[in-house]
Amino acid sequence: MRAWLITEITDLEKDDRPLKLAELKKPQIKENEILIKVKACAVCHTEIDEIEGRALPSFFPIVPGHQVVGEVIKIGEKVKKFKIGDRVGAGWIYSACGKCEFCEKGLENLCKDFKATGRDINGGYAEYFKISEDFAFRLPENFTYEESAPLFCAGAIGYRSLRLTNIEDGQNLGLIGFGASNHLILKMALYLYPNIKIFVFSRTEKERELAKQLGAYWAGDIEEKPPEKIHCAIDTTPVWKPPFFILRHLLPNGRLVINAIRKEEIDKEEILNIDYPRDLWLEKEIKSVANVTRRDISEFLNIAEKIPIKPEIEIYPFEKANEAVVDIKRRKIKGAKVLKME
Ligand SMILES: [Zn+2]
Ligand SMILES: [Zn+2]
Repeated sequence: MRAWLITEITDLEKDDRPLKLAELKKPQIKENEILIKVKACAVCHTEIDEIEGRALPSFFPIVPGHQVVGEVIKIGEKVKKFKIGDRVGAGWIYSACGKCEFCEKGLENLCKDFKATGRDINGGYAEYFKISEDFAFRLPENFTYEESAPLFCAGAIGYRSLRLTNIEDGQNLGLIGFGASNHLILKMALYLYPNIKIFVFSRTEKERELAKQLGAYWAGDIEEKPPEKIHCAIDTTPVWKPPFFILRHLLPNGRLVINAIRKEEIDKEEILNIDYPRDLWLEKEIKSVANVTRRDISEFLNIAEKIPIKPEIEIYPFEKANEAVVDIKRRKIKGAKVLKME
């Protein structure tokens, strides 16, 4: 099968062909696994972190891609959940041990044996992909493959971030950065909590406009003061200044949730500008979001189907994987980028 590989760490500023096309063997399934003919795979900022070494893959060469959707074409003899022809998908969680203290508490995202699709196991930038039936999900009806793919990362992890804010209806939610993830969070937050006010902090006028069109109460630059204090905020930027700057706008007991697998180093010194009384005093919290659980994915797919949340997508043919990755690096944000198999 054809597959794109990350073969080594490289710098995307200098290298605009980081992925190499290769011919690999089709995956062999075990008794509890399903073989999927990949129809689409969404492209995530995490691929950039893998290529540049901030989210280091467990081995090289590796097939990236953790928002994989397609058709089941073969099932192991013990598979019960799926049959041939089913439309399924997989996200960042490829497997977890199921026995440790975290797995037992529903925190399988924190399991020591957590395996991530496209980082610890070959992912979806390929013609075929296999996974245990327990970690695959049925696609929402009335969604095309390309529309479903981005739900598996930006959407599901976004849903986890929103859960972790502990927001209640009627409160104020800040969204820092307005790329694919926060734009999905805005839609699901307004659906789940119809009386909240959403404050979007973004560097670009275009993103602020989009936020207002989609129902944000207010949108401003990250250094602008919002008209009201906020109960909680979700940061999806790859840098430090925006979330740390916005701590000052949190109410007492407020919580900042950082939804980023790694932060870039370029503005790390911004952390030193934290002013304890202004930014942290009165029980303000900072919490990160790590990985995703199956509960997050399946609850989010349900919500997406009901609303429905159809992400804005930009389709790239499979052959243009390098272009898609480089366009994300250069922040050419139009919506979620999706590789489409022919
Ligand atoms: Zn992702
Ligand atoms: Zn575990």
